[in-house]
Amino acid sequence: MCGIFAVSGSQTNAGAVVIAGLKKLEYRGYDSWGVAIRREGKVVLEKQVGKISEAQHEFEPATEAFGHSRWATHGGVTVQNSHPHRYGRVTLAHNGIFENFASHKERIGTGTFQSETDSEVIAALINEHVEKGCDPFEAIQNTASQIKGRFAIILCIDGVDGIFAARRGSPLLVGRSADATYIASDIPAFLEHTSTVNYLDDDEIVWIRKDNVLFADLKTGKSIEKRNIDVPWSEEEAQKGDFKHFMLKEIFEQKETISRAINQPSELMKSAAEVLAQCNGVYFLACGTAHKVAATAEYFFADISGRKINVVAASEMPTFESFINEKTALIAISQSGETADVLEILERGKKKGAKIVSITNVEMSSVARISDVVLPLNAGVEKAVASTKAATAQMAICFLLAHADAELRGRGIFNVGRELLRETSTAINELLNPRYAEHIHAVAEKIVDRNNMFIIGRGSLYPMALEAAIKIQEVSYIHAQGFAAGELKHGPIALIENRVPCLVLGDDPETISNAMELKARGAKVIGISPTRADVFDEWIRVPDCDGAQSIATLVPVQILAYQLAILRGLDPDMPRNLAKSVTVK
Ligand code: GLU
Repeated sequence: MCGIFAVSGSQTNAGAVVIAGLKKLEYRGYDSWGVAIRREGKVVLEKQVGKISEAQHEFEPATEAFGHSRWATHGGVTVQNSHPHRYGRVTLAHNGIFENFASHKERIGTGTFQSETDSEVIAALINEHVEKGCDPFEAIQNTASQIKGRFAIILCIDGVDGIFAARRGSPLLVGRSADATYIASDIPAFLEHTSTVNYLDDDEIVWIRKDNVLFADLKTGKSIEKRNIDVPWSEEEAQKGDFKHFMLKEIFEQKETISRAINQPSELMKSAAEVLAQCNGVYFLACGTAHKVAATAEYFFADISGRKINVVAASEMPTFESFINEKTALIAISQSGETADVLEILERGKKKGAKIVSITNVEMSSVARISDVVLPLNAGVEKAVASTKAATAQMAICFLLAHADAELRGRGIFNVGRELLRETSTAINELLNPRYAEHIHAVAEKIVDRNNMFIIGRGSLYPMALEAAIKIQEVSYIHAQGFAAGELKHGPIALIENRVPCLVLGDDPETISNAMELKARGAKVIGISPTRADVFDEWIRVPDCDGAQSIATLVPVQILAYQLAILRGLDPDMPRNLAKSVTVK
């Protein structure tokens, strides 16, 4: 979380360039922001509480600047706690958590700090080393060895030209154009200037001065050569275009993203399936929406290849880590490929010899780079905090992987799975039109004033009920809960009273019986299914997609969540308290 952006070049509007870059990183954190410009040897700081998208500050001319858009972890949302922080000769912005900051803060002197953040203590430590006579690299190296936790830092030191950055666990990339160098937490931030990228790896440091760039190992100080990589993302892809929100744009992009996801080379899918075949324990690890995708994969594998997989929320995996050994396959699902909870398990699993397959949208991400096989989503930039097109692409890949596994085990045919997904993609394509969205809008209008909502599903639609709840909660702030349809009568049904909206995913006879039980207790029953049942008060049609039904069902659910947010006057792209790409634990 948190967006970091820096520029050093021949342009003279560095402050404005940083603000524009941070605006593109706003999805990573948006409670406050700050920019440091370097002008005539001095650092000028501007920090404000509020969204960077609303920032309108005029900066003095400068050729070098950096900034930060914050998602607070330590200390409230105040100007003092906003980054960059200044301590002595050091000005610094930080993404991550400095776990052992308190002891250092106390030793240095609590009264010498302006903020409550862990980050300011990093600035103080670097300053301490600089004051002792260390050169900048040594000062940053020494400080890095004192930090427990993940970080990406960006800083400048009074009296030293240029901007330094270093990372361990949190993402940082360097963008290179003819007349300037950029550092950012994510590629879209500098796409308007360049698509030539150097990836900074863990425990590496970079020093930029205009077009002069020096990489070094954070532990040894030795310099490193980096390859220039041209990224295929376009600036246009990272813009909203004619859509009012990224969330809606990304929902509509599912017209193409599912078919892009399934155009994986067969060999790649087979090599991932071989990893499963060589192992005797398979753990799918993910967080949030990706965790619900993994939960659907559990049904796919059981149905398609007859394999029992384990699905664990990455933050809960430590309890089960003792089961990881060289015969374990860890399958990580992470849109950004930077999810801290997932990454930590993978790093420890790798040391134990586990094989890693990742399903990610960012092929050069930390998760991808630690993996033995990477299955790319090819979904293009996903900017809205609420994941939509990445989720359906992840599901499509899990579905394909289950078919590749089935083929290897003599239980099915890979191409049959791919064909079914092609048909599903075509059906979703036909669904995604303004009339469909208007119909869902009309349904949303009937329930928008309710504060509670329940969702039920059976089989692979059960995890979709859980995902529907997340989607509705995160963008509309309506309390929504998903249940296995058959579980209702074992407790949750006590919550049903007059006019409570209940989404019923599916139209199989058992689920319809459960819908009747809801209706008998006064619920307003909204069916999302291929056929209309009498019990439905409202009905949203989804095409019949057979084994891939869960993928198709998710699309109207996403539209409904979006419409509820809009009707409630909320910004679905930037829900409160959240940020995309959760790089802190
Ligand atoms: N720990 C820092 C703070 O609270 C940075 C947070 C983050 O990276 O999300 O300000």
